[in-house]
Amino acid sequence: MSEIDLPESHPRYQSLLTRHRIEDGVDRGITSRQGLIAEGRGEAFDYLLGERTIPSADDAARAAAALLLLADRPVLSVNGNVAALVPEETVDLAAAVDADIEVNLFNRTDERMRAIVTHLRERGADEAGVAVRGLDADARIPGLDHERAKVDADGIGGADVVVVPLEDGDRAEALAAMGKSEVVIDLNPLSRSAQAVTVPIVDNVLRAVPNVADHARDLSGASQTELEAILRAFDADAALEAAEDAIRSGELD
Ligand code: ATP
Repeated sequence: MSEIDLPESHPRYQSLLTRHRIEDGVDRGITSRQGLIAEGRGEAFDYLLGERTIPSADDAARAAAALLLLADRPVLSVNGNVAALVPEETVDLAAAVDADIEVNLFNRTDERMRAIVTHLRERGADEAGVAVRGLDADARIPGLDHERAKVDADGIGGADVVVVPLEDGDRAEALAAMGKSEVVIDLNPLSRSAQAVTVPIVDNVLRAVPNVADHARDLSGASQTELEAILRAFDADAALEAAEDAIRSGELD
């Protein structure tokens, strides 16, 4: 039995666990009510994917790990859904690739920002020595309205590689226009965010975040040339096509 009182072998275990965590996140002021809607949309795509990591998503996770290991200043962006679903896993990934975390919200309120920063610190960031940023808001992403443009100069503002799970399309495009390389984790292969970035991972954050961390650990001894070769071999358009194909033609159990 687990935090939702169901055995992990239950056929809907993962989606019920996800719903529970998102609901709990809303109750605790971490996740917004819009986050519930985003979750519902993601769940539908995951159902059609068979709630599994398809091979092209695993390739993307490996390419993302290579990109993060090659980065000078990688940052993992965290919103209310990510904070509710994968807090420890996000800290673990940050530690594996020596990245900072930055809390970045679509609907930014000071209260939620602080609640999420505290939540991540308590879920292992302090212990692992991972910086949790987002409260300085002393830089702006050009081309976005005021609240959504706010970032930390020492965080996303100065990053060369940003992981943006569940990002909205405008911000993903604006970050790309700043010359940053991006990894997006989004179950919708047709979303504008997935289309705008260097490495789109079409997978549930629940599976993708730990998977990227596993690949990063596996690649920790790889040379720069080897990491660059993995990245060059990754074809983002082909990965999106493979995911769309799996969703459209998948056979459900
Ligand atoms: P875009 O502007 O990129 O087209 P959107 O407006 O369709 O995006 P939002 O509603 O802002 O997207 O965000 C929800 C996105 O997050 C959806 O594409 C959904 O598939 C995805 N999503 C939701 N939950 C998860 C999850 N657990 N793992 C991965 N992706 C998820």
